[in-house]
Amino acid sequence: MTNNLQKNIILFLLAALFISGCAGAPVRESLPTYSLNGTTYLSLVGLCDSRKIDFEYDTFTRTARLSKAGHRVSVMAGDSLVLVDGNPLHLRNPVDIYQGVLVVPYKFKEQVVDVLFKETALPSRRSIAAPRIRKIVIDAGHGGVDPGAIGKAGLREKNVTLDIAKRLYNLLRSAGYNVVMTRSADVFVPLARRVDMTNDSGADLFISIHANANRVRSLSGFEVYYISGGANDYRRALSAAEKETLNLGRDCISRPSLNLRTILWDMIYSDNRAQSLELAGDICHSIDRNLNIRVIGVKAANFYVLKGASMPSLLVEIGFLSNPSEERMIKNGSYRQQVASAIAEAVEDYAKDNNFTEACN
Ligand SMILES: [Zn+2]
Repeated sequence: MTNNLQKNIILFLLAALFISGCAGAPVRESLPTYSLNGTTYLSLVGLCDSRKIDFEYDTFTRTARLSKAGHRVSVMAGDSLVLVDGNPLHLRNPVDIYQGVLVVPYKFKEQVVDVLFKETALPSRRSIAAPRIRKIVIDAGHGGVDPGAIGKAGLREKNVTLDIAKRLYNLLRSAGYNVVMTRSADVFVPLARRVDMTNDSGADLFISIHANANRVRSLSGFEVYYISGGANDYRRALSAAEKETLNLGRDCISRPSLNLRTILWDMIYSDNRAQSLELAGDICHSIDRNLNIRVIGVKAANFYVLKGASMPSLLVEIGFLSNPSEERMIKNGSYRQQVASAIAEAVEDYAKDNNFTEACN
């Protein structure tokens, strides 16, 4: 399978290079065009070649990755959704395969290649990869019939998370962000509903607030989780796609599968992970600077609330309710205000960087 795949990729590349003509030679303004359904298309390999853009193609998933100067673009044959530095962009016409050549609409050259891979000094990858932060979802963990962790002195996680979420809401609102809460009262909201609300809101950032608990009462500290499992998600998508393709019969390799689309979306998640990780680090530093609590650090998580969200997502554990001295600390309103301020400060720093550099592009 792997050997065949490699052989296929090599054959495809050779064929594509042959068809698009003169590998390595500058063909800048004389790329061959194709007319498909009334739309002008260009050979993607030819285009990449003329611009010295690195090009990889996977015949199995029919996805191509373009990279140059820290920028990445992914396209998939048969799909009009392309990923530009992790951000989805919908083309009017799909990427296609014509006479064995992977072709892209002329608009793709103008909208993506000419913009992203122009021959000037490019800003850092982060400035393009990170989306502008305008809308933030704050998720107060637990609620209603689900109390979450309960401290020895009776402090309930659901009340602590709601209190901090509200404080964070006020801080971010007054800083000018559009903020949505998954719950603003002591009610039970199922996890799936929280994820749907978050994805439907079109938010740029998701922060879930929790308090830790452990049977070992001496455990203490503040930690931040970000979404993980990228490789696993990718493998799962790929194996789902593989099953789908096998069912189609022997000549299935050249047929598109709807399931393969999940791979493109997985790439979005990969970018979200990188951004989540960066912000998670910012929050830990901010807590370390401003509060007298041990910072455990950043961890990868497989929490349901994080995995379902299609944007950079974090889960903040504000301390251990199972630790009597941390419970006392968390019970104190000024500590909870400090936690909210430290998170807000990190979000603002992160957003300011991203929003500023985006505005410069
Ligand atoms: Zn919790």
